[in-house]
Amino acid sequence: MLRVVNLTKKFGNFVVLNDISFSIEENEILGLVGPNGSGKTTMFNIISGLLSPNSGKIFFGGREITKLPPNDICKLGIARTFQIPRLFENLSVEENIFLGALAKYDIEKAKEKTHEIMRFFGIEKLRETKARYLTSGDRKLVELSRALATQPKLLLIDEIFYGFNPTEVDSVLEFLNEILKMGITICIIEHRLKQIMKILDRVIVLCRGKIIANGKPEEICSNKEVIKHYLGS
Ligand code: ADP
Ligand code: MG
Repeated sequence: MLRVVNLTKKFGNFVVLNDISFSIEENEILGLVGPNGSGKTTMFNIISGLLSPNSGKIFFGGREITKLPPNDICKLGIARTFQIPRLFENLSVEENIFLGALAKYDIEKAKEKTHEIMRFFGIEKLRETKARYLTSGDRKLVELSRALATQPKLLLIDEIFYGFNPTEVDSVLEFLNEILKMGITICIIEHRLKQIMKILDRVIVLCRGKIIANGKPEEICSNKEVIKHYLGS
């Protein structure tokens, strides 16, 4: 579904991503993990078109998207959420989600889609609440809703559990399972490995701008490099 080929990104002289190549397969849930500062969010920023790489290419469904602006990438079917949600703070929950839906639908259909998604996440009661009054967990759900409203084929989620307390984690995992059942492919950055590993099909570990491991969760957990650089003994 998505192919990243020989991607390099520098900030000044600092090489954040160093000649990275990997793929995301249709219908999988792929985890992107690694120490803080290893370039995970930068990877999402490049795939979604917020940043340009210094070199390398990205293909989505066979089509090159490397130089496309974020709105075009969104229309092609890639949606993303942010580590710290970026909502339209003075707009209501409903309006935030509606704006996502407008990327794909006309006004009437977008309204319908917005309600469908609010029902899915059980946030109809919040529909008139302005984003700035939301709890951190609800902010995450609204951002996820806005991303889903664009009807993506591929959803990039940056640190889903950030903002949820431990008792809410299971319901978040349930939402992710439901999203997968809709036929949407997921790539997720997450630090709470114990919780996320159970639903991942595959894991890629980034460390100092390089992929140090790529495999099934159980392989990753016993990988010596990953233990040394990330998991610890
Ligand atoms: P991760 O998400 O894996 O924690 P990031 O991709 O956010 O890592 O950041 C990787 C490195 O790049 C960090 O050292 C960060 O400070 C740096 N960085 C990220 N974005 C920028 C930017 N826009 N300008 C300069 N440095 C940046
Ligand atoms: Mg990050």
